Amino acid sequence: MTSSSPPIIIIGAGMAGLSCATWLHRAGRPVLVLEAADGVGGRVRTDLTPEGFRLDRGFQVLQTNYPEARRLFDYGALKLRAFRSGAVIRMPDGQETTLENPLQRPLAAFSALASPIGTLPDKLRILSLVRHVLKYKPEELLARPATDTLTFLQRYGWSEQMINSFFKPFFGGVFLDRELTAASNFFEFVFQQFVTGEAAVPALGMQQLPEQLAARLPAGTVQLNAPVAAIVDGSQVRLSSGKVVEASAIVLATDGLTTLRLLAGRSGNPADAVSTEAASFPTAARITTCTYFATSGGHSPGRNDKLLRLNASSHALAHNVAFPADVSGDYAPAGRSLISVSTHGERSLSEAELTAGVREELAAWFGPAARQWQHLRSYRIAAALPVYLAGQPVRQPLKLAERLYRCGDWAAYPSLNAALATGREVAEMIAKG
Ligand SMILES: Cc1cc2nc3c(=O)[nH]c(=O)nc-3n(C[C@H](O)[C@H](O)[C@H](O)COP(=O)(O)OP(=O)(O)OC[C@H]3O[C@@H](n4cnc5c(N)ncnc54)[C@H](O)[C@@H]3O)c2cc1C
Repeated sequence: MTSSSPPIIIIGAGMAGLSCATWLHRAGRPVLVLEAADGVGGRVRTDLTPEGFRLDRGFQVLQTNYPEARRLFDYGALKLRAFRSGAVIRMPDGQETTLENPLQRPLAAFSALASPIGTLPDKLRILSLVRHVLKYKPEELLARPATDTLTFLQRYGWSEQMINSFFKPFFGGVFLDRELTAASNFFEFVFQQFVTGEAAVPALGMQQLPEQLAARLPAGTVQLNAPVAAIVDGSQVRLSSGKVVEASAIVLATDGLTTLRLLAGRSGNPADAVSTEAASFPTAARITTCTYFATSGGHSPGRNDKLLRLNASSHALAHNVAFPADVSGDYAPAGRSLISVSTHGERSLSEAELTAGVREELAAWFGPAARQWQHLRSYRIAAALPVYLAGQPVRQPLKLAERLYRCGDWAAYPSLNAALATGREVAEMIAKG
């Protein structure tokens, strides 16, 4: 290919599109990334409020041991700040108990053994699962036969109490699904990541991840506010503005529904038709809402312990509560605390109703001062994660037709690691071809 060849066009500057662009650029290939939104990151965005709060669009962390993240990011430059491993769990009777990761904090395992959550055999089973997942590489776990996570846990022998008080609040928060229907191979992978790595955020917010990747690309590589309307003739894309751009190859790094829409509307050589198998994939999604509050001053309601709060009560609105400024002071202006509350699933409540309901639960949890906390903003994310069930392939076809590819978590499993991995794999296919 000559330097005057048209670029490889990547549609979408989320983590998958930026990973693909990074690897292609490293391979010396010209790339153009067209992004519909006004910033890079896709589902990994951070808003800075006029008062100086950094609000990630939905509570989200980077597992520091993700193999793909370790390949791509400069962790030092990101100034990663880690949550403490474990969680404080609020039981339905209002009691709190702290569970810490037994592998990372062996002494804390004794306090976990004494905690009211689970029987002694339940706790020993945790150690057995730790040993089990440490025997495998991450991709080996993802390739294991799967059932749904709840069935996996029941077959492993955990008591109902342990499942309801620990696994459902904790992994329900990761999967955005408290029923734990997610495939068990994905659960084993995530469990391993929690055991071997830390859950961290960049000091200045999650959007620093995509910003770091975008900053390494030549100026002008990423075009923002450039929604793609259609793929025409298999080698061109038409922007919503009407502009048509030539491509030597096209990569769809968009969400599942947009990918399907762009594939369905594609025109071009019938010989390059996309197979039915490649063009029919699940697009069901998990929903979550993140409600942010701020204190006006005083001590952090999170006691600066850097632990996530989980609600074991299945009917709660406040499922997870985090205090990001306890982990990175840059998330809030000096002297103020930031409270991030996640509510998973569809609640059919207006923002005002949900905020009021969450506030009441927080008052019962953290004291009546919570009634005075300032409501900063709410983010309802309708397509937060792809639904990933037992039997779904860990990779769907990434090459769809000659010079047409797709990447992103919708083509694999719901994780930053999957978005980054599929982006790299597509870049390697193109660079080889
Ligand atoms: C609230 C929340 C919490 C999460 N927590 C975690 C977590 O703790 N750990 C973890 O590993 N993962 C987590 N995830 C998942 C993770 O964020 C995703 O797996 C990952 O960001 C997906 O990246 P992607 O590039 O595949 O897709 P996306 O981020 O969806 O990127 C797609 C991009 O395509 C763009 N686009 C769409 N249509 C067009 C068009 N027509 N033209 C041009 N551009 C277009 C979009 O604007 C977007 O930028 C979480 C997600 C959410 C929402």
